[in-house]
Amino acid sequence: MEVEENNVLYNSVLDDNFKEVCPEKVIKFKPPLYKQRYQFVKDLVDRHEPKKVADMGCGDTKLLRLLKVYPCIQLLVGVDINEEKLQSNGHYLSPYLGEFVKPRDLDLTVTLYHGSVVERDSRLLGFDLITCIELIEHLDSDDLARFPEVVFGYLSPGMIVISTPNLEFNPLFPTMTLRDADHKFEWSRMEFQTVYTTTYPSLQQERVLKFVLVGELLVQVEHLRLRQQRMLREEEGARGPQPQAPPLLLGAVFTEAEQARIESSPKPFCEGDKFCIPLRRLLAYPKLHRLRLDEDRMRRLIADSVCLSRDGSAVVVDLHSSWDRWPEEN
Ligand code: SAM
Repeated sequence: MEVEENNVLYNSVLDDNFKEVCPEKVIKFKPPLYKQRYQFVKDLVDRHEPKKVADMGCGDTKLLRLLKVYPCIQLLVGVDINEEKLQSNGHYLSPYLGEFVKPRDLDLTVTLYHGSVVERDSRLLGFDLITCIELIEHLDSDDLARFPEVVFGYLSPGMIVISTPNLEFNPLFPTMTLRDADHKFEWSRMEFQTVYTTTYPSLQQERVLKFVLVGELLVQVEHLRLRQQRMLREEEGARGPQPQAPPLLLGAVFTEAEQARIESSPKPFCEGDKFCIPLRRLLAYPKLHRLRLDEDRMRRLIADSVCLSRDGSAVVVDLHSSWDRWPEEN
């Protein structure tokens, strides 16, 4: 494709991802170039599911923020020579509140190192993917010469993505500000400091697992308790006017396999005013089943949060609780 501007004719390698806007002849990329670069990395992560990913020259951590949502990634590292950028952007990498309520299945640690890509650091060994997005053009000639030896020779990750601006495009931009100020520091291993690190809640962590388990269990127990009340009232039949039962919590829709698993587990039962739900029954429900616990582990995790039957095989609750607010009790 040829693009003409300022009376100069360029033989260009431009592709479909850009659009020329007349009359200013400002080149607009659709989607913007940075998004295309990040998308390239995201597609790679989708395809290869790396566990350990490092972004060299991570700048304001935008790419790291996009990558932290991938369930396959368990270690995410950003390295940059600009400590201030790391300091001011690190907090974007903290887990959101929602990530405590619905934790990841696998651990994730995100760490930012202040340092130079051309320093050998053993903490960056064994990575599945290293990205260097718009970084190498910021290296001076000495660093540029060391870059391949350090990244390909020493770090030798499973995959590496390097992007750098295409000189052919430069005259097409209204202002030529593709380069930041050069960084020409030499950093010792000691100067290669950790600036920020965060660990995500995941079901691998006992306290998170317990939090999720007890939460899901209480919801399920309450649902079953209300259903039991309703069944008993229906059994009582038309013996006089019945008070309005509290509404059932919205019931989940189960697949056939889930339904079969639930039905083949021990049924809840009443002992006087006590309602007993076998742990195996609770474990059959999808939200608890997904935690992949056996009965023993579940019992240990919930023992100090709920009341268990004497043999420890069931959760025991009062069939009627003061929360029910039946009209005749008011
Ligand atoms: N990769 C990010 C992105 O695509 O948005 C930021 C790119 S920015 C143009 C270049 C980054 O490389 C800057 O944050 C700069 O501080 C960093 N940088 C420059 N020289 C570096 C070096 N020797 N080692 C690590 N980072 C470096």
